[in-house]
Amino acid sequence: MQQPTPLGDMDNESFRRSAHRLVDWIARYLDGGADSYPVLSRVRPGEIQASLPAAAPAHGRPMPEILDDFERLLMPGLTHWNHPGFMAYFNSSASGPGVLAELLTAALNQQAMLWRTSPAATELEAVALGWLRDLLGLPPAFDGVIFDGGSSSNLHALLAARQAAVAEVRTRGLLARGDLPPVRVYCSEHAHSSVDKAAIVLGLGQEALRKIPADDRYRMRTDALAEAIGDDEAAGVLPIAVVATVGTTSSGSIDPVPAVADLCGARRIWLHVDASWAGPAAMLPEEAAIFDGVERADSVVVNPHKWLFTPLDLSAFYCRRMEVLEAALALTPEYLATKEAGAARNLMDTGIALGRRFRALKLWMVMSSFGADGLRARIREHIRLTDGFASQLRADPDFELLAPVSLALVCFRAVPSGCPAGMPAAELDELNAALLERVNAGGEVYLSHTRLGGRYTLRLVVGHLRTSEMHVRSAHELLRRGLDELLEVRSGTWRAPARPSD
Ligand code: PLP
Repeated sequence: MQQPTPLGDMDNESFRRSAHRLVDWIARYLDGGADSYPVLSRVRPGEIQASLPAAAPAHGRPMPEILDDFERLLMPGLTHWNHPGFMAYFNSSASGPGVLAELLTAALNQQAMLWRTSPAATELEAVALGWLRDLLGLPPAFDGVIFDGGSSSNLHALLAARQAAVAEVRTRGLLARGDLPPVRVYCSEHAHSSVDKAAIVLGLGQEALRKIPADDRYRMRTDALAEAIGDDEAAGVLPIAVVATVGTTSSGSIDPVPAVADLCGARRIWLHVDASWAGPAAMLPEEAAIFDGVERADSVVVNPHKWLFTPLDLSAFYCRRMEVLEAALALTPEYLATKEAGAARNLMDTGIALGRRFRALKLWMVMSSFGADGLRARIREHIRLTDGFASQLRADPDFELLAPVSLALVCFRAVPSGCPAGMPAAELDELNAALLERVNAGGEVYLSHTRLGGRYTLRLVVGHLRTSEMHVRSAHELLRRGLDELLEVRSGTWRAPARPSD
């Protein structure tokens, strides 16, 4: 006779054995184990799904078997963001302290919608965000709240701006309102796509977002911003917010925040600063100038899950006028009413989500474990490594930089010195796209691309705790070798001259 299915959780002894096995596995993975996998997964679309059963198992399986499946079936389908050769997009590390915190977070399963549903998560959020705010040099007038990512933070910033500028928007919305002028939000042409998404979600529409042209260093042009605002005002359009970016996604450019703050201050327009990636560099005295003027913003976002060694996901949103966000969102049905309301903060009041993970734990553990000096030293090292990579490219006649090096980001492309004059731009783009594919296919590093000034642009970002001199050197060597191989293939058409060392 079949045994009845046991009820309750997995038995504790099996949990303990599997947990020990997993912790050993994770320790190996973090201590160089990740390096044995190709950074960019090599599976083809659909391959992972096809390798897994189409239906859930009818009966439970032992955890060791499930863990075997994880290694055998899922590991090949992972792109290793926690690999020191990951230099694409904006990466950071899931550091040891952050991973330990996530383990506890899962076990404790806190849901911090109300102060009483997790007093520690609520209050630790205020403490950890206060520490971070002070390290960033932001004034205490900025109150903080944690969201899942920069996209959510940007959305909440524009939600607050809409609340501040549009009368009765909370109750009457924006539709069919004869009493409302059209509204406008401004950002640079290089602002992150999440600003567009926020305009879509908030019912403003993408046409309400005016993209301001950038200068030759990809920074928002304040003369163009002033002109756009002036034209709109003259036409009866209501400017509600400007989003300035400190560290744009493509090139890391830094918008002139002091001048933008002057414009916004004079007109009482909400200024939001998106420092999702670059923000942590403001902790370094030698880079603090990137935050000049940010103290005058209404809201700011910095993502510890990008460049502060905190596992995904954690975005720190700071606001000088948190009461505006609260006025936009606070809503307490009877089943969530508590007697502490007023005496303690309920985090559900300043965010769209009701359920909230205990994210503050990992930020607190990362900051406590590395300390301010440890965080600064690691960020400084990333900037040093990036400078080293940029110097290698400058010394290589077959590559050129396509933007000023910004903190830990280099934008560049191959322009072989033997490249025939007048080579069509499309062919150069194609060569660089092929080079990127070739380098990434090798599995040792992973780089990404963008387009700057119409040109296909390669990007290398240093952000991982274990990325070393060896990795950035190897990135250059792989690019060099990849380019040589591509030129060899194309030698029928044209050929770069031999370099002196050949
Ligand atoms: N803002 C900037 C400048 C970014 O570069 C990014 C992502 O790279 C975001 C916002 C979105 O952040 P998240 O991926 O955390 O939503």
